Formats: sequence, C-alpha cells, structure tokens
Amino acid sequence: MKTGLQICAQLENLQEIQPEGEDFRWYLKLTCCNCGEETQDYVYCSLGENHPAPHGRSSASLVLKCKLCKRENSLDILADSVASYTLEDAGRFKTIVIFDCRGVTPVDFSPRVGWEAKGLESGTIFSEVDLKEREWFDYDEKAGQSVSITELKHQFISVK
Ligand SMILES: [Zn+2]
Repeated sequence: MKTGLQICAQLENLQEIQPEGEDFRWYLKLTCCNCGEETQDYVYCSLGENHPAPHGRSSASLVLKCKLCKRENSLDILADSVASYTLEDAGRFKTIVIFDCRGVTPVDFSPRVGWEAKGLESGTIFSEVDLKEREWFDYDEKAGQSVSITELKHQFISVK
C-alpha cells in the first residue's frame, strides 16, 4: 500500500518550501492494519535511517511492532517521491512524499522542524524553518520583503 502525503499552504514572497536533507524527520501517527491500534505518539522516519525489515524486504525507513497484536510493521520513504511545494502549488494540495506501507496506514502528520524555504526574488535560503504551529513568518533582508508560510494543511491519498 502506497500512501502519499499532500500539503496545502499559502506562500508569501517564497519560491518554494521543502523538507531539508536526508535527516528530515516525518512525524506520523500510524494505524495497524491487522488490529486497528493507533500509535499513541507520533513516530518519525527519515531517509537517512534504515532498519532491517520484516516481510522479505531488505530494509525500511521505519520498523515498528504493534503494541497490541505484536505484529511487525514497516514503512519506507520513496526517495524519488520527495518534492518541493512551490508558489504555483500554493492554495492547492500537492504530494510531497510517498510512503510504501506494510501493515500500517498513516492517519496523522505533524510538520515540525527542518523545512527549507527559498525567497521569491532574492533566492535567499531560510533553513531550519519551524512549521509546528502550521505557520511561519520571517523577513527577507535582501529583497526587503516579509515572507511567510500560512494555512498549512495536510491530507493522505492512496497512490497506485
Ligand atoms: Zn496491531
């Protein structure tokens, strides 16, 4: 089962935003497909981490044992699927990452830290952008403009 994470946001004076580097942590809540148990806290996965996986897979970004039914489930980030969210996408949902899920379904996402934003005219890179509050405000000194990310929403879609 492949699940795409889509985000929708408003960008002010920004070309694009994207998860920064392989260490970026995707914080998810997952439901076990076997028994329906949901992880109580957010669990994270990143491209930079690989674990030996069950079900004949060589490795996965995240391997976790369901607390209720004890089944070993796994989730892998498809590296090629990671995309930036651009000004053209603003106000519309766009898939920015796809998870290959075995035995789990993502049910919630927490954006948190580690995003990178690029100034529209200046190309200024803002790193370590924090989207925990689902909005971010700064000032692009080179362009003399305020920059912001607001109204950040997310949803999951099934991908074939
Ligand atoms: Zn379970």
